[in-house]
Amino acid sequence: MHVHVIYTGGTIGMVDSPRGLVPGADLEGWLTRLLDRPRTPGASQGGPGPDDVTLTSLDPLIDSSNATPASWQQVIDTVRALAAPGTGPAAFVVLHGTDTLAYTAAAASYALTDLPHPVVLTGSQLPLGVLGSDAAGNVTGALVAATSGRVGGVSLFFGHRLLAGNRATKTSSWAYDGFDSPATPPLARVGAPWRWYPAPPAGTGWPDPRPYARQDVVVLDLVPGITARRLEALLTPLPDAVVLRAFGVGNAPGAEPGLTRVVKEAVEAGTAVVVASQCHEARVRLGHYETGEVLTRAGAVGAGDMTLEALYTKIVFLLSQGLRGAGLSDAVGRDIAGEVT
Ligand code: ASP
Repeated sequence: MHVHVIYTGGTIGMVDSPRGLVPGADLEGWLTRLLDRPRTPGASQGGPGPDDVTLTSLDPLIDSSNATPASWQQVIDTVRALAAPGTGPAAFVVLHGTDTLAYTAAAASYALTDLPHPVVLTGSQLPLGVLGSDAAGNVTGALVAATSGRVGGVSLFFGHRLLAGNRATKTSSWAYDGFDSPATPPLARVGAPWRWYPAPPAGTGWPDPRPYARQDVVVLDLVPGITARRLEALLTPLPDAVVLRAFGVGNAPGAEPGLTRVVKEAVEAGTAVVVASQCHEARVRLGHYETGEVLTRAGAVGAGDMTLEALYTKIVFLLSQGLRGAGLSDAVGRDIAGEVT
């Protein structure tokens, strides 16, 4: 099965320089050597051989901390350009820096809901040329997943687990199992043989999406002691949307004089306010406490169990489709690609 690998940058293909790690490894040579090895006889988990894999390196290769919505779109456009029906690759693997890997995975999931080919993103904590690196295991895992015939849509392979792309979040800056999907079980776990779990529902899709463009979205953490004046200052001038990262199930210091008024005035002025949680594992329920209910009364909506990455990229996606204000707030709750329960 033909798999096309798209290399975007990130630690996986970096080499040392006097300025720190920068892209520059011989990825093609490394990939050929990696795949040119005997397979376990009869195993369905061997993945493709060197002749089945082609490679595109994007220009420029970036540290994913420099990624923007234009970078997400570059990946999406590259996949679409190659995914010609009948003749093109059957699956895609995207090699990406880990820092914003979960953002790109979620962004791609909204824009590629109609793509019949699986897209699996991965990266690594150590460059491919370093002894003991996790690069080989992650790339092999991503290739096996992509050619398994058992996964569709956009997923993320890291540290022995395959996760839904729009459910994943980076949980460790160093661990080899540095990603998790706190709201949903993994899609698969590596082993002999691999273990597969039921995939979450695919969502309602989004036909013919317009390309991603940079949008004015503020992500803001509430803290004990925050004042209305500070919140107002942080939201001046008003952005198109705010992700308000509140406590627990979506609670805010509603007793703070004027704080919910700031939210209400923002909503009335056409800014969508979406309440998320600071908890790693969370499901926002705004009516559960009075401290959350005040946000609903101010016109905010809850993020359900979306990760920050899924929520932020979804808002940028919806703004790029032309939605604003109440229309945007309504659409945030719609399940586009399996990102929300
Ligand atoms: N800074 C790197 C990046 O995201 C980190 C990594 O790839 O692990 O591009």
